Order: sequence, then C-alpha cells, then structure tokens
Amino acid sequence: MPITTAGDLAALCEIAATTPLPVSFLALELAPSLTPDFLEPLLALSRGRLVLVRRFAAGDEAPLRAFADLVRRHGHFLAAELTPAAATALAPTLRALGDERLLFTLSPERSAPGSSSPAHSVGAHRALTEALRSAGSQAPLWIRNTAATAVRDETGFLSKLLEASFLTGSLLCDGVGDLVSIETEADVTRATTLVYNVLQGAGARISKTEFVACPSCGRTLFDLQTTTQRIRAQTGHLKGVKLAIMGCIVNGPGEMADADFGYVGGAPGKINLYVGKNCVQYNIPQAEADAHLIALIKAHGKWLDPDPASA
Ligand code: SF4
Repeated sequence: MPITTAGDLAALCEIAATTPLPVSFLALELAPSLTPDFLEPLLALSRGRLVLVRRFAAGDEAPLRAFADLVRRHGHFLAAELTPAAATALAPTLRALGDERLLFTLSPERSAPGSSSPAHSVGAHRALTEALRSAGSQAPLWIRNTAATAVRDETGFLSKLLEASFLTGSLLCDGVGDLVSIETEADVTRATTLVYNVLQGAGARISKTEFVACPSCGRTLFDLQTTTQRIRAQTGHLKGVKLAIMGCIVNGPGEMADADFGYVGGAPGKINLYVGKNCVQYNIPQAEADAHLIALIKAHGKWLDPDPASA
C-alpha cells in the first residue's frame, strides 16, 4: 500500500484507531518525505504487524538508524530498499544496527540513465546479496516481482508466471531469497498460486506432485496428453512425489531423471511401472495400469488420500 502524503497516513490512522489492522503483515511503501516522527502515531495505534518499506540511498545513515529504531520500539518491521551500491556504502551502519526487525529488498534501478528498460534484476539481486553478506547481515531478503523487475510488462497470467520464474526461480535455485511477493497480480489468490508454482518449480517448497513427461514421438505407445491428465487428476495432491510418464521403453527410462515412480509404454496396450530406475511390473494392460501405479505408490508409503475439502 503506497503512503505518499500526510492525507494517506491520516486516513490509515483513522482506520487503525477503530479497526484492528490485519494480524498478518501489511506492507506500507513510504515516500521519502515521511519522517519517523510523522509515522509514530500510526505505529503506536497499530495492533497488526506493519512492514515499512522505504528506500535508502548511500549517505542515508541517519534515516536508516531512525527508521530501525522506530519499528523496534513498536514491534514492527522495516524493509530497507537498497541498491547494491547503497548497501555497500551503508555497511558500517548495517553492522552497527544488527538484523533485528530488518529485512532487505532491491531498489529498482534502470539499466542506464534515461533508459526505459529495467536493470538486470537477477544480477542486481545477486549483487545486493553479496553486499549484504559483506556487511555481515543475515536479515531476510524479500524478492519483489513488480512491473519494475519485469523484462516485458505483459498482463497475461502465464506471462506473469514466466516473469516470476525468471527472477524468483533463478534466485531461489541460487539459495537467494527468504520472502517472495508477486505484485503484478492484483488478485491475492492468483498471486499466491503464482508464488507456489514458482516455489514448486524451483524445488524450494514441494506442495504438490511433480510430473515429468516425454515430449512424445513416433514411438509413443499411448496418448500421452490424456494419460498424463488422467494420472494427474488421481495423484496431483501428493506432496513431494515425482512421477514420470514416458511413451516408450526405448528412451523413456533413461529420461526419467530422478522420478520416484515411472509409468512407461512397454508394448502396444501394455505399461511397465518403475520405482526409481528399476522396472518392477511388466506388461500391465493399460486399462489396469492406473490402479497398479496407485497401489505401488501406496506400497512405498507415499500415498495420501485427497483432502475432501479441496475436491
Ligand atoms: S520416451 Fe520414447 S516415446 Fe517418449 S519421446 Fe522419447 S523415444 Fe519418443
């Protein structure tokens, strides 16, 4: 929520005085003109936990100390928006402050003065991480997917997923990032779905079954698309299970990577089932193969009944 004027702040204070702010976090993006003295009444009123998001430049030692002191006195948090260069310049202050109630996020930069294209966000996050590490900080890094970090500002759901995957997926695979937000999607449910998809893709949090399927070719022994959809409908709720669905035994087993279970075309109308790289059931009639696969998953203790509430 952007807070740019005294009027914005007054309106929020009025709401906070009568209605508890959410118990979860509410992030307030502060204009640089808003001082700690000015914000004090809101923080004192708020029963929820606020995250004050404020940009700090090199040379902002005094405001950084003042804001850190403000959130600590009232039990809230400060998300300091920094460029890698600012983090390096502010390193002595960051060392002196310690990490309590601080988190960091990248201050968006343009690639060159006057340029309309964003700087390389993945590289900038890596540089910020390195600068913070050199400053001795272990405070959480918040990866914000915004219009400013997007390579192309497209509005489709899949474009947003792709953008989030470029930035957040790359960083999570590097082990960088503790908190993720996708702010290009206004619908909270859809934004949360995007985050979970990115976490799953990066292997940071496995919340549903992972599927590997071959691209299909002239050797494929069953309809790969409908078979994958059918198996996904029965097994998609299994957390942390990786299933491979491969069209033939010529190349399928070699391409299953580290799948836990494999469903592989063995002969026309016949399926072979694998546990890891080992074929454990041969030439099962295709009509019975789904039930055999589920029984195999159960026999290996990886089955959970679907949650009726999510059916
Ligand atoms: S696994 Fe078999 S069916 Fe699938 S693409 Fe490879 S060769 Fe073709």
